[in-house]
Amino acid sequence: MLDQLKCLIEYQKIEDKKNQLLRSYEEGPRRIAELEKEFEYFEGQCLLKSEEWDNAKKAQRAIEQELDDLRGRMERQKTRLIEVKTNKEYQAIQKEMEDTKKEVSKNEDSSLELIDKIELLAKEVAELEKDLAERRAVLDEQKAVLEREGGEFKARLDRLEDIRQQVRDRVNPDLLKKTDFLFIKQAGIAVSAVENGVCNVCHMNIPPQKFIELQRDEDIMQCPHCHRFLYWPGHEGYCISQEDIDTI
Ligand SMILES: [Zn+2]
Repeated sequence: MLDQLKCLIEYQKIEDKKNQLLRSYEEGPRRIAELEKEFEYFEGQCLLKSEEWDNAKKAQRAIEQELDDLRGRMERQKTRLIEVKTNKEYQAIQKEMEDTKKEVSKNEDSSLELIDKIELLAKEVAELEKDLAERRAVLDEQKAVLEREGGEFKARLDRLEDIRQQVRDRVNPDLLKKTDFLFIKQAGIAVSAVENGVCNVCHMNIPPQKFIELQRDEDIMQCPHCHRFLYWPGHEGYCISQEDIDTI
């Protein structure tokens, strides 16, 4: 059994585990961003409704102001009516007073409509705010869980990095250089098992003579097609238990 090959197999398993942990670790912030975006949508809806409520209140205040003005105008018209000298003037002021009355009535209707609308909007805003508070509580809870998990993944990655470093220290520098190159060039897989004469990663046949050499276990070999380092799992020494790595 070749010690260097055993190291490479271990190194590959560690890299696999590292990539798996990294994916989980990176998933957390992505999920948090998604949840926050979803929450912001509801927050926006609540804000819009609240603005609508404020605008209705402002409009109602403006109408009340307008009504005060109209009532003042009406009083002045009444005074002028007493002071008129001619019949023509009298009729003109009466006409003005009728117009003012109509305007008052129109504004009073609008004011009542707005009061109903304000009441309805107040209820809707209260419901949306309640819903939003519940959503905020759920969001905070989910974020706390994801952040805690993220911390756990980070701790596991740190532990794995120590083990990874130990394995790297045991591989001779030339071999390590080739392996690291393969990790980059070959989608993170530098070592492959050969089963039934086929490279497990690129699925190409290994020439029978090469397969016999591999089983002899005398030298480190590379796949003639994908250049990954090969091992034959039929050798007991290469059946590295994944348990140690899995428990990290
Ligand atoms: Zn191959």
